[in-house]
Amino acid sequence: MKSDNIKVLLIDDDVDDFILTRELFSMVNLSNYTLDWAASYEEGLKIVECRKHDVCLVDYRLGERNGVDLIREARESRLTTPMILLTGQNDYDVDVEAMEAGATDFLVKDETSPARLERTIRYAVALNIERCRAEEALRAEREYFGHIISAAPTVIVGITPEGTTTFVNQAIRQVAGYEPDELIGRDWWRVLYPDEEYRQVERLLKDFEHGAVVNYEMELTTKNGEKRCVSWNSVNRLNEHNELVEIIGIGNDITEQVLSRRRLETTEDQLRQSQKLESVGMLAGGIAHDFNNLLTVITGYSELMLRRLDKVDPLARNVEEIKKAAERATSLTRQLLAFSRKQVLQPKVLDLNSVVANIEKMLGRLVGEDMELRTSPGAGLGQVKADPGQIEQVILNLVVNARDAMPKGGKITIETANVYLDNEYAREHIAIQPGWYAMLAVTDTGCGMDAETQKYIFEPFFTTKEQGKGTGLGLSTVYGIVKQSGGNIWAYSEVGVGTTFKIYLPLVNEQVSEPEPDAARPEKVVGTETILLAEDEEMVRNLARESLKMHGYTVLTAANAGEALLICQQHVGTIHLLMTDVVMPRMSGKELAEQLLRLRPETRVLYMSGYAADAIVHHGILDKDIAFIGKPFTPDALVLKVVEVLQQDRSSFSSL
Ligand code: ADP
Ligand code: MG
Repeated sequence: MKSDNIKVLLIDDDVDDFILTRELFSMVNLSNYTLDWAASYEEGLKIVECRKHDVCLVDYRLGERNGVDLIREARESRLTTPMILLTGQNDYDVDVEAMEAGATDFLVKDETSPARLERTIRYAVALNIERCRAEEALRAEREYFGHIISAAPTVIVGITPEGTTTFVNQAIRQVAGYEPDELIGRDWWRVLYPDEEYRQVERLLKDFEHGAVVNYEMELTTKNGEKRCVSWNSVNRLNEHNELVEIIGIGNDITEQVLSRRRLETTEDQLRQSQKLESVGMLAGGIAHDFNNLLTVITGYSELMLRRLDKVDPLARNVEEIKKAAERATSLTRQLLAFSRKQVLQPKVLDLNSVVANIEKMLGRLVGEDMELRTSPGAGLGQVKADPGQIEQVILNLVVNARDAMPKGGKITIETANVYLDNEYAREHIAIQPGWYAMLAVTDTGCGMDAETQKYIFEPFFTTKEQGKGTGLGLSTVYGIVKQSGGNIWAYSEVGVGTTFKIYLPLVNEQVSEPEPDAARPEKVVGTETILLAEDEEMVRNLARESLKMHGYTVLTAANAGEALLICQQHVGTIHLLMTDVVMPRMSGKELAEQLLRLRPETRVLYMSGYAADAIVHHGILDKDIAFIGKPFTPDALVLKVVEVLQQDRSSFSSL
C-alpha cells in the first residue's frame, strides 16, 4: 500500500452521488487518489473481497439493503479494509449502529468539504496501517511463544473445565507416547487416567475447586500401557465473572526420581537394620568370647571329675547337672557367636540340595504329623562354599520357626534354585552384588508377621513366643551364618498367609569337597609325644594339661609366647606339637608359631580359639591347612584333635 496513491472504492447505487464525490476529489490533489465505483451492494462486496482498495466509502442507502449491513457482512467475512459510511444529516442512530458494525468512520454527505474528506480518508488509512502492524507484531509474538511452548521439555496442556484438551505441546509424546493431535479435542482425563486411576482425577478435580494445584503427583497411563509419574502445577484461567474457563497444566515427568527415591528409602532402611545388627553382634561376640573360656573350664573339670567319681556316688549326679547346665550355656554362646559372625567356619564346596536331602528325615520327625514338609530341589543347582554343619543349622532353625508358626498344621516347602540377581535387584537390596546365586527358600502357610515384627526378627533375644518357648536366637544365628558365608537373607511375610525366608549364597566354580571320615573314640589313646601348651588363661591351661596328661602325653606349659619360646630353647628332647591360643597379649599365637618353627621346624601346630581372630582366619574363614580347635572344647575332643594332628601326613602339613 502506497500512501502517495490511495485507492478508494465508492459503493453507491446513485450515479449522481458518484459524480458529486468525484467532484469533491477533484478539489483535492487528485493525483494522490484513484477512485473506483461500485453501483450496488453485491458488486461492492465482491470488489471489497478482492482487497485491492485502501479504503471504502459506503453509502447508507443501497437499494433494498443499506451500508451498515454491508459493513457488518464484510467484517463477518474478516475483510479488514477501512470503511467510511456516508450518511445524511442528523442520522445519529445510524452512525452509532455503523460504528458498532465495524465502520471506521462516517461522513455526513452534504457537510463534507474536500479537506474533511481527505482528512477522514487519510486518518482511516493510517489507522489501518497501524492496526496491521499491531496484528503482525501480535502474530510474531504468538509464534515466538508458540515455539517456546512447543519445544519445552515439560508438558504444557490446556483443558476445559469439562475435560476437553484444547492444546498440548510436543513434550506429551515423550511422557505419554501420544502425538498432540491425538489428544486435542479429546477428554484429557479419560484418555490418560483410564479405569481405576480415574479416582485420582476425581480427587484432583475437587482440589481445582479451591484453586490451582502445586506439585501434584499423579500416575498416568501411556499409549502402550506403561505407568509414568508426573508432577503437575496448574494455572486457572478465569473469565470476567470469575468462572473457570481453562486449566493450564504444566507437568514434569518424575518417574525416575520417584523410583530412585523409593529405592533409597528401602536401602536406607536396610542399612539402618544391618548397622544395628552389626553393633549388637559386636557386643554379643565379646560376651561369647569371655564365656567360652569359662565354659571350657566348667565342662572340662566336670568331665574330669566324673571320670574319677564312682557312678553311684551321689556327687556324680550333681556334677552331671553342672555339666549339663554348662553344655546348655555353651550352645547359647555358640549361637551368639554365630550371630556375631565370630565363629570359625570350615567351609566346603557343596550343593544345597544334598544338604537338604541329608537332614530331610530329621526335619520330617521334627515337624510332626499334622504338617506337610515338601522339598522342591532345583535341577542343576550350582555349588556354593559354606560350612555344611552351619547350613544345616540354618535350615533347621527356619523349619522350626515355620513349624511354630503353624500350631494348627499346614505346609512347609523347602525350595532351591539358581537365580540371577540383576542390577535392578541389587539397587533395591543393600549388600547384594549382581550375579548368580543359589537360593534356598523356606515357606510356610502359618500366621505370618506384621511389618513391625519383621523389623526385629534378626535381633538376638527377640521373640514373640511365650516364656520358656523361644530364645530369640534362632534367626540371629541364621543371619550371622548366612552373612559370614557371604550370602544374604530376606524375609517376605503376610499376616495370616504365611512367610518365606529366602537365602542367597553366591555360586562358586569348584569341585565338591570329599566328606571326611568320622572321628574315633578317645578312650584308647595312649600318647607318648611331648606337647608345648601356650595359653594365657590359667584355668583353660590347667584343664588342657590335665586332659592331655591323663592320656600319657608329656605337657610343657607356658602362660604366654615368651615363656613358650624360652621352654623351646631349654628343652632337650623333641617337641612334637605346639598347642597355642590364638589371641594372647603381646605376641599372638601365630607369631609364636612362626618363631618356634624356625628353631624346631619339625614341630606341628594346633591353634585353639573361641573366636575367629584375624590372625588365622580371614573374614571368619579358616585357612585351609591350619589345624584348629574351637573353644569351648571338651577334654575328649581335645585329645582326638591332638591325635589327628600328630598323625597327619607330613607332606600335607604346611608350616603356615
Ligand atoms: P524364637 O523362635 O526363639 O522366637 P527366632 O529368632 O527364631 O526366635 O525368631 C524370632 C521371631 O520371629 C519369632 O518369635 C517369631 O515372632 C518370628 N518368626 C520367625 N519365623 C517365623 C515364621 N516362619 N512365621 C512367623 N513368625 C516367625
Ligand atoms: Mg526360632
